[in-house]
Amino acid sequence: MRNTDEYTKARVRSHPMQCWNCKRFAPKLIEELNSEKPNEKYIGNLEVVGKPVATEFNGKMYWRYKVWTGEYKMNFGHFCMQKCATSWANKQVWNIKKRTNKGDPVDGNHKFEQLKEMRNKLSNHFNRH
Ligand SMILES: [Zn+2]
Repeated sequence: MRNTDEYTKARVRSHPMQCWNCKRFAPKLIEELNSEKPNEKYIGNLEVVGKPVATEFNGKMYWRYKVWTGEYKMNFGHFCMQKCATSWANKQVWNIKKRTNKGDPVDGNHKFEQLKEMRNKLSNHFNRH
């Protein structure tokens, strides 16, 4: 069983990802860029999101842009939110339990214990915050 952090560490990919639990897609990874010189406009090839925000400083205009990096970011690893991670882990435990009750041998039991542990770790992990 992998470390639970690996399941819930923020994950950035260049392709769309779906939450393992609710199947929602990961949002686009947006970065903010500020012009370094007065009146400098963004000329890079990333997609600009929304309108740039102007700030005046010493009588000069500076711009803040939001750009899409071309990547997607799932905030909690395979899950869009903490709740999804715990609820997914709970479902896994439940599924294995069902299978185990139907007489699935040792392997099932073993997995069940691991998943139970993972679920507990996940809830500990989240309750700390
Ligand atoms: Zn989700």
